[in-house]
Amino acid sequence: MPDKPKLALILGSGFSKAAGLPVASKLNDELLEPPPADKTVLTPEIDNFITDKLREFWRYAFGYEDNHQKPTLEEHFTTIDLAANTGHCLGEHYEPKKLRAIRRFSIHRVFERLDLPRGRNDNIGSLLLQLKNNFHIDIITLNWDIVVEKCLFAIQMLPEIEKDYTFDYGIEIEDFVSKEVLPQRDLSILKAHGSANWVYCNNCRRIFTAKPGVGKVPLERRVLINKEDFELLGAPEGMPESLEAIKQSSPADCPYCHNGLSTRIGTFSFRKDLSLSQFGTIWEKTHRRLSEADHWLFIGYSLPEADYEFKHLLKSAQLAKRNGIAFTITTVCGTKQKTQVRYKRFFGETTDTQPIYFDQWFRDDFHQYLERIADRK
Ligand SMILES: [Zn+2]
Repeated sequence: MPDKPKLALILGSGFSKAAGLPVASKLNDELLEPPPADKTVLTPEIDNFITDKLREFWRYAFGYEDNHQKPTLEEHFTTIDLAANTGHCLGEHYEPKKLRAIRRFSIHRVFERLDLPRGRNDNIGSLLLQLKNNFHIDIITLNWDIVVEKCLFAIQMLPEIEKDYTFDYGIEIEDFVSKEVLPQRDLSILKAHGSANWVYCNNCRRIFTAKPGVGKVPLERRVLINKEDFELLGAPEGMPESLEAIKQSSPADCPYCHNGLSTRIGTFSFRKDLSLSQFGTIWEKTHRRLSEADHWLFIGYSLPEADYEFKHLLKSAQLAKRNGIAFTITTVCGTKQKTQVRYKRFFGETTDTQPIYFDQWFRDDFHQYLERIADRK
């Protein structure tokens, strides 16, 4: 039997929108919204304090008031990162330490918003199932959320499923509880900006995760929440202590060296911190798999300017293909004309840009797409 053709599925936040999550450009609308009281991993008082501090920062840095336009997350994180990472203050109120505390609060809040249940979308599962059956696929995602992982896990749990839909992350990563190194699989999910279910040990440099369906370690272990940040930002008396008590109930220490855990992710900033060696591995693999793929299928990714490093990776992989190899680029990235133009401008006029959102495309055009490309190899 000939090898299956190779397909790289490249996902942006528009894909997760089909699962009910906000797209990246709308997440800023939710940054000042605490989670419902029955969904928080903290307490409503602590969540409100985080909201107050984020609002205060916006007021100071961007002149924001409640009825104003909210700064984008690119503006928010770039403003913080460029100052904090070079040891500079933002005005007289925000020295680097405070900026780093605000960044931790912001990422914690984004993780909370991404974790809220938003309904399900069966089209996503069907897409993954059919692509996996017809191609050798690699999934490359810029999203921190775990929509894809949850879908693959749900598929694998179906009683009639005989094939293997398990996945790896393309790096050495260990289960937070059992300390098992997760095995390599036939299907990789390469998360170019990291993941909401990874925690990192700054000491022994391991990354840990929880099995999909078992939850998200950074949120549940509250790794971005620490007493010192609350003291620094003027938390009311007793709050840092009650926070400590909550954290004691599920410690966030490295299972190996007992150092405190943290997260490392590429934020929405123009100056993303991708300095972890594991990111290097993910990006190398992404380059390799993209350059070997017969087809690139982009879903819900607008090719934003802030992702210039990722755009460079795409361009470099496109040009690294052997001469004379025909491959297809198809985009299903919504109806905005400027997105279609951006793709054609960057990859050339032969790029097949479908002016459509995922659900409609899956319903109306997916089978045609499969037939069209399945026998091209
Ligand atoms: Zn460690």
